[in-house]
Amino acid sequence: MIGANIKRLRLKHEMTQKNLADKLFVSAQAVSRWENDEVEPSIGTILELAKIFDVTADEILGLESKEIPEQALQEEKNEKTYQTEAPPRQFLAVCEECNNPIYESEEIVRIGNKVLCSKCHQSKEEKNRSEVLRIGRNRRIRAFIFGTLAAVIFLSATFSMWNTALAETNMRIYAIAFSLSMFTFVSCCFLNNNFVGLMALKIAKWSIKFPALIFTLDVDGCLWFIAMKLLSFILGIVIGIVMFILALLIGGLVSVFVYPYAIITNIKHPEKSYFD
Ligand SMILES: [Zn+2]
Repeated sequence: MIGANIKRLRLKHEMTQKNLADKLFVSAQAVSRWENDEVEPSIGTILELAKIFDVTADEILGLESKEIPEQALQEEKNEKTYQTEAPPRQFLAVCEECNNPIYESEEIVRIGNKVLCSKCHQSKEEKNRSEVLRIGRNRRIRAFIFGTLAAVIFLSATFSMWNTALAETNMRIYAIAFSLSMFTFVSCCFLNNNFVGLMALKIAKWSIKFPALIFTLDVDGCLWFIAMKLLSFILGIVIGIVMFILALLIGGLVSVFVYPYAIITNIKHPEKSYFD
């Protein structure tokens, strides 16, 4: 069968066995053996032959029927027409938000285990976006209100000193500067998109770890233990107050430079937050 096909196609292309053999880099004897069905050519050779004869490999193998019955041709045509006219839309899933079916050609969005249609997904995204904007705006408003409050409190705390004999011009400038830094400090904390609050918290929390006490179990030993505990307690409070003031001073100073960046970031990227 294969041999006969090779011979037929070779003669059709007016080639000798030698011509064909040369094209395939084999001997004329090999071609002769294929045509006499003594040996079967390899798959690679069949593909090469198909290329040379400009036919399909199926035709060389004798698998392709040349004449398709009229009825089959008509049926195939009908099928094709049907497919182009009414493509069956494959049902994919049901949207868990609006309960509408989602078909093949439509976008399907998976969020975790939830399946959404593109419409619901879009409206959800928009809702999330406006929620983020709202939270960002609220942070900005709170930052302004509480910042102003802090500044007013610190300014009024120093106000009583302004008119005393001790008050000098420098004092007043310091008081105003400190109040302003309190505004930026508190604002930075409420804007919650910068490191100022965390830094101040770390400074304020800093404390000395007192060593463990070794004492004897008699009256003197117990008294010494209580005295040392009391001392470390008082020392702890003093250090706490000092560190708190230090945190305000450093936080206030740093916040003056961070504040412009924080307010711009809040407007441009309202979703950005340091603590969630
Ligand atoms: Zn939906």
